[in-house]
Amino acid sequence: MAEHWEIYADWNPWHGCTKISPGCKYCYVYRQDEMYGSGLPQQREPSSSLEWPSREGRGRSQISSSECRKTANFNLPVKRKRDKSWKIASGKLVFTCFTSDFLLKDADEWRPECWQMMRQRSDLWFYFFTKRIDRFMECVPDDWGDGYENVLVGCTVENQEMADYRLPIFRSLPIKHKSIIASPLISAIDLSPYLDKTIEEVSVGGESGVEARPCNYDWVLSLRKQCIERDIPFRFHQTGAHFIKDGRLYRVKRCHQLSQAHKANIDYKIGKYLVPETVKFEWAESDYHE
Ligand code: SF4
Repeated sequence: MAEHWEIYADWNPWHGCTKISPGCKYCYVYRQDEMYGSGLPQQREPSSSLEWPSREGRGRSQISSSECRKTANFNLPVKRKRDKSWKIASGKLVFTCFTSDFLLKDADEWRPECWQMMRQRSDLWFYFFTKRIDRFMECVPDDWGDGYENVLVGCTVENQEMADYRLPIFRSLPIKHKSIIASPLISAIDLSPYLDKTIEEVSVGGESGVEARPCNYDWVLSLRKQCIERDIPFRFHQTGAHFIKDGRLYRVKRCHQLSQAHKANIDYKIGKYLVPETVKFEWAESDYHE
């Protein structure tokens, strides 16, 4: 699959997050930390994915993932190389805060500096996903106005309940570039009440990890249909580890989850650079790599 990673950059100003909804159950940040972190035994999970134990009640390994801390790359967007050029070259799409949630309360103290960097680097596109869209207005800077032109926000929904809670809030917010991220998709979702012309993309994906809940291709196709009916760009970005198609369950290796989704060839109006056609990126032809 041609993923064109050369035009993307990652910026994780802080790391660690607290679980707030069913989609967090097998959060990849926790899984990655478990894999590369202390390796200490995990505490038994609570019976409901919405009822998490108090911080004091968690095992040590969970504390390491749920404790939010600033990273050494906090200032990455404004860091320069020896020759004084930016470390993140102009024009890149910067995936922001993918090892946490940008609107996490624990990071309130640090976020203003991030907004400032986003303002300063108006030559970059910053893209963050959040499950905390209900905190948005208390997190934006005073000069936010209708939104910064170079900030894209993805509101994550994993099931109907979360869609019905988060998307009415999302719709009401002043944001220049809005996406809906239906991932990890753990049930069928009817997004049709929330799909208007302010939504620039719906991106759908299954869950990864050994315990991943299955994603049914019928749910994916249903979302695609809803998008096409409203002429909204649609992207199927990954199958997840357990994928149901025509009633049969497939186990998909991590290394094939993106490519298998791409092979399905069901994206709609996604631009050459795997961004919606509605977002006008001005990359040179030389930025494009197969
Ligand atoms: S909000 Fe995102 S980063 Fe935070 S725990 Fe949930 S899935 Fe993980």
